[in-house]
Amino acid sequence: MTSSFSNLNLAEPIARAVAEMGYESMTPIQEQAIPIVLQGKDVMGAAQTGTGKTAAFSLPLLQRMMAHENPSTSPARHPVRALVLLPTRELADQVAQQVKLYAKYTNLRSAVVFGGMDMKPQTAELKKGVEVLVATPGRLLDHIEAKNAVLNQVEYVVLDEADRMLDIGFLPDLQRILSYLPKKRITLLFSATFSPEIKRLASSYLQDPVTIEVARSNATASTVEQHFYSVGADDKRRALHQILKTRGIKQAFVFVNSKLGCARLARSLEREGLKTTALHGDKSQDERLKALEAFKKGEVDLLVCTDVAARGLDIKDVPAVFNFDVPFNAEDYVHRIGRTGRAGASGLAVSFVAPSDTRLVADIEKLINAKIEIEPVEFEEDRPRISEQGRINDGRRMYREAEGSEQPDEPGVAAPAPRERREIRETREAREPRERREYAPRRSNAPRDPFFDQPYEPGQPAQEQPAWETAAKSASPRGISANIKPKKKVAALFKTVTEPQT
Ligand code: AMP
Repeated sequence: MTSSFSNLNLAEPIARAVAEMGYESMTPIQEQAIPIVLQGKDVMGAAQTGTGKTAAFSLPLLQRMMAHENPSTSPARHPVRALVLLPTRELADQVAQQVKLYAKYTNLRSAVVFGGMDMKPQTAELKKGVEVLVATPGRLLDHIEAKNAVLNQVEYVVLDEADRMLDIGFLPDLQRILSYLPKKRITLLFSATFSPEIKRLASSYLQDPVTIEVARSNATASTVEQHFYSVGADDKRRALHQILKTRGIKQAFVFVNSKLGCARLARSLEREGLKTTALHGDKSQDERLKALEAFKKGEVDLLVCTDVAARGLDIKDVPAVFNFDVPFNAEDYVHRIGRTGRAGASGLAVSFVAPSDTRLVADIEKLINAKIEIEPVEFEEDRPRISEQGRINDGRRMYREAEGSEQPDEPGVAAPAPRERREIRETREAREPRERREYAPRRSNAPRDPFFDQPYEPGQPAQEQPAWETAAKSASPRGISANIKPKKKVAALFKTVTEPQT
C-alpha cells in the first residue's frame, strides 16, 4: 500500500498544492479512498471527521476533472462537475476552503453556498461558472429553484457527514437534489457511522460501492486518550479547571447537551477567568463564524458547544475535548471526541459522569466496543472551608450563589430558610431534573446569617468584563449580574406565605 502522495501521480498543480500543505504522508482514509476514486468507483466510507477525508475525496476528484481544466473566462466552460453536500454551514465553509487550497494552482473553480447568508454574492459566483460546488442542501435547492445552479453536467457527488444530514432531516432535500442529477455519475458517501438508514441511502443512490473503513465503524481514534471521571454536577467546573491546569491544556472544546446549558456554562467559565465562547444553534451565522475564528486564532481558550453546532468543525490540534455532559446519543460521543487526536496527533477526551449517567456510559461502551473505567477525581485542594465570616474561602461562593446552591450544614453556618430552600430545589430540579434529585439538600435548623440575604459582590473585579456582564450590570439597579438572582428578604417570604388567598 502506498503512503506517499508522490506515488499517486497527481497532476503537477495539485501535487504542488499538496506539498505546500506540508502533508508528509497519506492518512489511512486517503491511502484507501484516493486510488479507488481515481478508478471511478463509488465509495462508501466510514470515516470520522479529522481523518483527512476531505482530501481523500477532493484530490482524486480534482485530478479527474483536470481533463476538463481550461483557462477560459466563459462560464459555459466551467459547468458544475462536482457537487459536495454537507449538513452545516461551518462544515461546508471548511470543506470549500480546503478544496480551494488543493485547486489553487489549477484553473478549476470552486464555490460554496449555505444558508443564513445573502444569496446575491453566491449567485454572482455561481453565474461565473464553478467546477466544484460545495453546499448545504437547503440553500442549494434555493439556488436550483432560482436557476442559479445548473446541475445537468454533474459527474461527481459527495454526500459528506451523511449520517448527520439524515439526523437533521435533510433526506427529502437530498432526494430532490439527487433527482436533478445525471444518473451516470460517481457518488461518494462518507459517514462517521453506518446506521441502517445510511445503508438504505447508500443502496438507493450508490452503485456497487467499495466500502472503506479506516477504523472499525463507530470506533474512536486510537490516538485519543479517553478518561471518564465520576463527578457530581456541582464539581464539574472545578474538575475542568483542575484538569486544564494539571495537564497544561491551552485550548479545548467543552460539550454540553443543551443550548441553555451551553450559554450558562460559557458565562460561568468566563466569569472564572477563562476566555470562553459559546457555540450553539441560537447563535447567528455571523456569531458562529466569529466564535470559530476567535478560537482558531487562539483568542479563546474554551469553545463551549452543543453537538449540532460543533459537528465536523475542522479546528486542528484541539488538545482536549471535555464532555461536560455525557451525550444522550452514544454516537455523538464518537463525533465529539473526533475533534481531538486528529490526523495522527494525540489528544485527550475527558467525560464527566454523574451518577445518573450510568446508562449513557453503558451505551458508549457498547458502541465503541471497549470497557470504560470510571475514575474518581481527586481534587488538589481540600473540600471548601468556611471562614469565620461564613465565606467559602476558595472562590466558590460566586459559583454557589449563581447556581442557587446551598451552603454545607456546618456548625455556625447558616442555611437558607425553608421557603427559600424549596425555591432553590425547584429551580435546580427544573434545570437538572435527574441529577439533582440524587443530591437533595439536607435540612438544618441552624440560625440564619444575614450575610446570605445580601446579593453577591465579587471580591476582585474581573480584568476584562465580557459585554454580557457589563450590559447586565448597567441594566440592574442593584448592580448585580442578570445571571445571579438576588435572594428575597426573609420577611418578604413570610409575608407572601401568610397573605390570604384572594
Ligand atoms: P478532515 O478529516 O478532512 O476534516 O481533515 C482534518 C485535517 O487534517 C485538515 O485540517 C487537513 O488539512 C489535515 N490533513 C488532511 N490530510 C492530511 C495529511 N495527509 N497529513 C496531515 N494532515 C492532513
